[in-house]
Amino acid sequence: MLAHGRVSGQGEAEITDERMSGVKILHHPNFDFPVPEGLHPFPMDRACAAARILSSHLGADTWKALSAAPSHEISRKDLERTHSAGHLDSISAPEAAAKIFEADEVRLLLDSEIDTILLRPQRWICAGTLMAAKAALTSGSALSTAGGLHHAAPSKGGGFCAYADLPVALAALRAEGALADGGRIAICDLDAHMGNGTARCLLDDPSAVLMDVHCPTSYPRDAVAFGRIDIPVLLDVQAEDDAYLSALERGLSELAGRGPFALIVLLLGTDPFEDDPVGPFRLTEGGILERDRIAIQACRRNSTPFLVLPAGGYSDQSARLLAETIEKAAVAS
Ligand SMILES: [Zn+2]
Repeated sequence: MLAHGRVSGQGEAEITDERMSGVKILHHPNFDFPVPEGLHPFPMDRACAAARILSSHLGADTWKALSAAPSHEISRKDLERTHSAGHLDSISAPEAAAKIFEADEVRLLLDSEIDTILLRPQRWICAGTLMAAKAALTSGSALSTAGGLHHAAPSKGGGFCAYADLPVALAALRAEGALADGGRIAICDLDAHMGNGTARCLLDDPSAVLMDVHCPTSYPRDAVAFGRIDIPVLLDVQAEDDAYLSALERGLSELAGRGPFALIVLLLGTDPFEDDPVGPFRLTEGGILERDRIAIQACRRNSTPFLVLPAGGYSDQSARLLAETIEKAAVAS
């Protein structure tokens, strides 16, 4: 449990401004989806819910000092480095959007409504991920209250993801010279589902090393994407804390052996949680938080800059779990 001014669990420590200096938490109210009630069965306001919890626990002044926000959504030019023009031009069509967001009601909306309530938030999220990646490279670590849209491929969306925020951000960093040529990136995807979109976007990018802990019999079962993943860590349906955490440790050890990296990106989806309506695993709340601690410690062990993105999470506890992970990750160990 979070307690005001403290983090719980292993390494319990006072939060002070000094210990949190240098960390940036990216957040913008536009990360959330202004969907009419009943349009979609999952929480669409997780980013703001997590931000409210963080502001409450950290105190308004600390939250203000740590948080940053993009000033505009991502540009078409940035999106086009990763996505085809055909994809970008077609995803506001009701049929296409209904498939991506897995909601029949979307078919009843106008293109302009789909853009406003579903697509524009994801363009803001892309901008947040890019800004967070820059902050991580500059200060050592950064987190965003949204992002990790890991099912969006260059010419196809899916699994609630229209734009591939992380590959878009990495392409922008390379274009801007923020990552030296050959600057290697590790992506450690701990969402319960395979990050097939990320893998497809990076099919021809050998500078990215992909580790992905997921259930192979769950969505998206994408053989092409699976073939791109350098370190697949596979777990059965209903996997519990011990099996998951042991497999994670083995995967992280292998990943460390493939370094050094300019940046490690952690996708800390909360959908392995036992109460998640979509995720196939049975991790307890303690298991989820221990997973996050292990992954963040692995980044800090080698002093590698790291970026945390929330990816999926569909239970009514998701915002709270996300806030707790962000708070822990934001505190220097
Ligand atoms: Zn997922």
